[in-house]
Amino acid sequence: MPRMEAAAVLPQTGRTVLVVEDEAPIASALAARLRSEGFVVEIATDGPGGVAACERLHPDIVVLDLMLPGLDGLEVCRRIQAERPVPVIMLTARDSEADLLLGLETGADDYMTKPFSTRELVARVQAMLRRVDRQRATSGSTGEVRALGTARLDPTTRRATLGDTEVHLTPTEFDLAYSFAVAPERVFTREELLATVWGYEVASGERTVDSHIRALRRKLGADSIRTVHGVGYAATSGTP
Ligand code: CA
Repeated sequence: MPRMEAAAVLPQTGRTVLVVEDEAPIASALAARLRSEGFVVEIATDGPGGVAACERLHPDIVVLDLMLPGLDGLEVCRRIQAERPVPVIMLTARDSEADLLLGLETGADDYMTKPFSTRELVARVQAMLRRVDRQRATSGSTGEVRALGTARLDPTTRRATLGDTEVHLTPTEFDLAYSFAVAPERVFTREELLATVWGYEVASGERTVDSHIRALRRKLGADSIRTVHGVGYAATSGTP
């Protein structure tokens, strides 16, 4: 199996998508759709295979089923995010909100509930990769280190620190945190956060925002982001 590491300079159509899904009809339909859009696609059919494929391929994005043989999607997500940050879109058939939210807090950037439209999934994959491109274009040039609560966010390295301790944030978590940090006076609605951080608006997206806010509060401190009831969220001033 050849290595298919996609360099930053490749056009979007040269990107590699790893699909981790044990239901063959879903995996092959997804792969066919993604390939028709110009993506290089690899399929893994169980949890350990997904972790191994991620290490081998260094995909640009992972589409990860929640219920998998071997290791479930949550554990796969933890392991691949520990290795290196990579965007993850989670697929779930579960009707349990708790599982969805846990998935997002584990480091998935987004999720889709089965049955889903492959067209919609492809649109989300493309939106996520455009966001990664924007990050690459801006990192190292314009970004200033900013504070959010007691955390410091460096957009050049995309690292967050609390004191001397580095805090691991997923790509989406970093973007979300940095959005608050650069506009400390601004109150963002969930729709605005979806549009600026995720790059699209979806009906189910508000729960996605809420889950990521919870993850950020857990990682950066409960007082890093405040809820503005009836409106949305805003940075909490770090100075008393
Ligand atoms: Ca499954």
